[in-house]
Amino acid sequence: MTRSFDTFRADVVRRLYEVTRRVSSSADLAEVLHEIAQGVVEGLGYGVAAISRLEGDTLVMAAVAGDDVDLDDLIGRRTPAENVLGREFSIADHWGILRFVPHDRLPPDQIESLWVPDLEVSDDPNAWHPLDALYAPLYSSTGELLGNMAVDLPPENKIPNQEQRELLEMFVVQAGLALENAQRRDMLSRQVRLGEALKQLALLAGRVELQDALRDAAEALYASLPVVQVTVRCFADNVDDHEDRAVGTPHPARASEETVGALRADLVRLATEGIHRPRAFSVRDPDFGGFTAAPNLREQANRDGWTHGLVTPVGVDREVLGYLVMLRDDSMPRFEPEEVDAVHEAGRELGRLVRDVRLRRTERRLLAEMRELDRYKGELIATISHELKTPLTSIIGHTELLEEAGVQPTSVSAISRNAARLDRLVTNLLNYSRIQGRGELQRVPLDLRESCHAAMEMLKIQAQTGGVELSLLESDTPVRVLADAEELPRVIDNLCSNAVKYTPPGGRVEVSLHCNEGMAEVRVSDTGLGISSQDQVHLFSAFHRSTNPQALTIPGTGLGLAISRTIAELHGGDIVVESELGKGSVFTLRVPLTEGV
Ligand code: ADP
Repeated sequence: MTRSFDTFRADVVRRLYEVTRRVSSSADLAEVLHEIAQGVVEGLGYGVAAISRLEGDTLVMAAVAGDDVDLDDLIGRRTPAENVLGREFSIADHWGILRFVPHDRLPPDQIESLWVPDLEVSDDPNAWHPLDALYAPLYSSTGELLGNMAVDLPPENKIPNQEQRELLEMFVVQAGLALENAQRRDMLSRQVRLGEALKQLALLAGRVELQDALRDAAEALYASLPVVQVTVRCFADNVDDHEDRAVGTPHPARASEETVGALRADLVRLATEGIHRPRAFSVRDPDFGGFTAAPNLREQANRDGWTHGLVTPVGVDREVLGYLVMLRDDSMPRFEPEEVDAVHEAGRELGRLVRDVRLRRTERRLLAEMRELDRYKGELIATISHELKTPLTSIIGHTELLEEAGVQPTSVSAISRNAARLDRLVTNLLNYSRIQGRGELQRVPLDLRESCHAAMEMLKIQAQTGGVELSLLESDTPVRVLADAEELPRVIDNLCSNAVKYTPPGGRVEVSLHCNEGMAEVRVSDTGLGISSQDQVHLFSAFHRSTNPQALTIPGTGLGLAISRTIAELHGGDIVVESELGKGSVFTLRVPLTEGV
């Protein structure tokens, strides 16, 4: 039964409508393409319609419709794109967007690869010849070639007329759009996966073990891109890494030393020319990416079964610290631009990782060296002080004997004064080295009122001699702390003694005790020389003395405050200073109060 032309048109429009709806709504490309091929066969009356998708330089059969063909055999079939899109199209007639290759134009060697329908050759000049071929390249809306549609056995086995060609074109356009939608979807999901992988690489920052971090990076990349192998190699730095570190997924890195050396030299050369982008290479490229290591790489490709890949430097700025290689086999497409970008970024991310791990390692080593130096310094101070202390004690003892024996009193007092000064220095040095090496304190309950009284007692004479008014603002309640009974009073003594020492005659020193937010506070304020803000910066460093010439005339070692702050900190407290040059100073010692007070 022949359909009326109107019924035919209505049927075609219905099918086209259905196809258009599917193209814009379905995410299943195979299904949509099948619908289109089916529409061409059932709607337009062609015997066969086949749609292929372009993957790199290969056309992959994605949908076939027609009664005479064994569909399962054809789906997934791969043809070099050049055979159709290049050679056949170059001899084809252009029918709008369709390409018609008449049977008599086909080169004989190409006939063999064609699918030839079982059709009688006819004398009719309008008849379809079994070797005639009709194609339609499938384009995206931006003109990118995405695939090809091939049709055969046109309606009534006649060469299609203008009207039939135009109808076919409508299906062709829909097939192009379907491929474009699929390409967009693929790109989006690729971008999401690549973004995930890059995020994972960024999360590796802060890792300490380089080898483990590189392995995790390789695995994250392998999981996010279709590749057969990921290899990361990090060159030896001859500081801590005396050999290259290389990891590979799923196979271990297996390039020969010679290949690695040549590849490294190439990447370094490119980097000095300012080229840091990933480089593509393929066994089909006679030049093999232009690498010096090309022969080795080609041999490796043949041995390991990959066909193309990308290599990018692992590096920061111009420095090539290693490389990242991603390999694909014949069944995989070429790397898309966003994949190349992601691999580039991955190389840089890995570069930052390698640099940071190494920096941290250097930092740790330097810190250990510094600690060792510090320990040595402490040991040295302790040893020297001990060595000085013994003869000094003897000198002081014998000076007393000389005094008793009536030797010139001025000389004896000079010896005695200087020996006492040396003795103070040595005592301070010993205190300093002891407190530096101290981890734990012997803590006992202590009422700071007593420590303040003791300090007052000790300084009474010195204050009187120096014309300084010394007073203690009593506290009615005990100020209890858990503290080392020898060390903490030493801090109060030192702050009070400094205040008296650095206050000229006529001045005042006032000591007061407070409890403030769980802390005991001993405030020692004086109306003395004061300390400039520049000097305050280094006030608590060992051996630091103010640059103020007036203060320098007063004997001192610059160790008292360093010792005091260390002791305060060992008690979980601190010492703060407020001072103004020429006006006076307030030193406040703060230590935690015993709980419940
Ligand atoms: P020393 O008094 O033995 O030099 P310190 O470490 O106790 O060592 O003090 C370091 C320096 O801080 C002193 O040399 C002095 O210049 C300055 N200084 C400390 N306390 C006062 C103070 N109350 N008033 C003025 N200067 C002070």
